[in-house]
Order: sequence, then structure tokens, then C-alpha cells
Amino acid sequence: MSDYTAPYLFCPICGKSLQNSIIDNHPRGACPECAYINWGDFSLGVGGVLWHNEKVLLVQRGYNPGKGMWTIPGGYVDHGESIGEAIIREIQEETGIKAKPLSIIALRDRPAEKHNTYIIFLMQFLGGNLQAQAGEVSDLGFFTLKECQSLPIPSLTLGAIEASQSVSKGLLLNSKVKLTCALSTLYQIL
Ligand SMILES: [Zn+2]
Repeated sequence: MSDYTAPYLFCPICGKSLQNSIIDNHPRGACPECAYINWGDFSLGVGGVLWHNEKVLLVQRGYNPGKGMWTIPGGYVDHGESIGEAIIREIQEETGIKAKPLSIIALRDRPAEKHNTYIIFLMQFLGGNLQAQAGEVSDLGFFTLKECQSLPIPSLTLGAIEASQSVSKGLLLNSKVKLTCALSTLYQIL
């Protein structure tokens, strides 16, 4: 575990100066007035591998980092949004395609200064026509695996596309388990 603490000087709730405190053996910014503790800076991203007629949907990034690279559609999860809702929304916004999640096939964790976790879904094509989101996506299309291999594409993306052809289904949505919080969803091996 790194010693990183987010460099926030003030409490985002009450505005008092945060004090550097050791909590759970880790330096953290804690507010002396209210209960706020800065537990870290986390973000959650999702991507979707979507096959249709033996071709996979790719978008060309229209912005940096990675402008011009081809990748699977996806983006950040909004606060209060489930990961499954996020990937449905992102694919529709970026490409005009309606899809639904089938399973989780990969997870990339990056505990850097801003801790980011990226979850890759296998998606099912439902319908729609290709339409690139202005600004975000400079080009898009469906490609065979062989075509994907000759594009400028991150190894993480290509690896997930190749692995999506495995017989293993990955983590599947299990709606039979009653979870304590009604907002929770569970993905597991079944
Ligand atoms: Zn405070």
C-alpha cells in the first residue's frame, strides 16, 4: 500500500482545515469539526466487449489520453449508478447501440495516486444504428478479431476481446440472492 493521501486541505463538508491523522495505520486527512475522513481518491470505470455478427464494436478515442487509439466503448460510473447501468448508458451515448450486460470478464485495478478500477463486461447486442458521440468518438465500427489485431489498440483491450471468446462465462449477475441493500447487485460465478 502506498503512503499517498489526497492533498485536500479543507473539509468538503464544513470547510475546516483537515488534520493529518493516523487512522487504521494510514495517514489520512480528518476533519476536527465533523466526522469527515478522506479515505482516498477512487474512481470506477467500465468497458464493454460487444460482439455482433462475429465482429466486435470499437470506438476511436477523440481526445487524450490515447487520442486516435481504438478501444471498446465505456467510461466512468456516475455516483448512484450501478456498473451495469453505466455500461449500458456509455455504449448508447458513445455509439448509438443498445446492449445489455451478460457477464464481467475482466477487472483491471490501478492503485495509483488516483485509485482507478476498470471493469470489463461482455455485452449482448440488442439493436440500434452506429452513431459516434460528437467530441468523444472520432470513428467507430464493428471489426473482426483479425482486424482488431492490426489496429492501434491497448493490450488490455485486445486481451479482453480475445478472452471474451473463451468458454468461461466470467461473473454473472445473480438476482436470486436477497441482498441487505436494495440498491446492491451481485455478480458471481454460477
Ligand atoms: Zn468537516
